[in-house]
Amino acid sequence: MVDLKYIGHSAFEFKTKDKSILVDPFVSHNEKYDYNKSNIVDIFVTHGHADHLGEAVEIAKAKKAVITAIPEVAAYCTSKKCKTRPVGLGSWINYDWGRAIFLPAYHSSSLPDGSYGGVAASILFDIEGVRIFHAGDTCLTPDFKTYKEIYRPNIALLPIGGNYTMDVEHAVVAADWLGAKTVIPMHYNTFPEIQADLNRFAQLMQVNNTNCAILNPAEIKQD
Ligand SMILES: [Zn+2]
Repeated sequence: MVDLKYIGHSAFEFKTKDKSILVDPFVSHNEKYDYNKSNIVDIFVTHGHADHLGEAVEIAKAKKAVITAIPEVAAYCTSKKCKTRPVGLGSWINYDWGRAIFLPAYHSSSLPDGSYGGVAASILFDIEGVRIFHAGDTCLTPDFKTYKEIYRPNIALLPIGGNYTMDVEHAVVAADWLGAKTVIPMHYNTFPEIQADLNRFAQLMQVNNTNCAILNPAEIKQD
């Protein structure tokens, strides 16, 4: 069993019985979220942009957690004295709570100092048998059809805000192609250019017969 907590934007905490995993920890905008309350052992970063790297460096140091990221992003975090695990796209990486695989996202990646961040990633997690696909920032891609076939994700976390990523209409298609029974929208309404119509998303998902879980930040979903 894994608890899924939406912190806001693209930040999530996945909680097992005794450990927490943070993804894209841009958490400073959510005053209700306190990472000190969680036993965070691993932090995943999909790409180097500030709204995804977020407070990864600060949290990794405070919690003695390991940051897993594409080599360029990992090297930046190493230079800030964090423990890191640099990984490329395409292979399962094992952890004591399960495993994860970095997959391509169609987006750019640079670091806060302006340096190149390598490729952007989506990340698929297999945590105690629950498969969670965090799309990161990406457009719609037919890769999703392959993920349905190979990985069978249970839960998909999809950006819907448009402008930098796919929008509501494309995310509905993405949900269908991925075949996840639960879809949680992310990466919307944080900035003026990524406003999204949540009701419309929920309605379109209903037509698709997919459970659309719209989470308020810091709400907990159990699976
Ligand atoms: Zn972003």
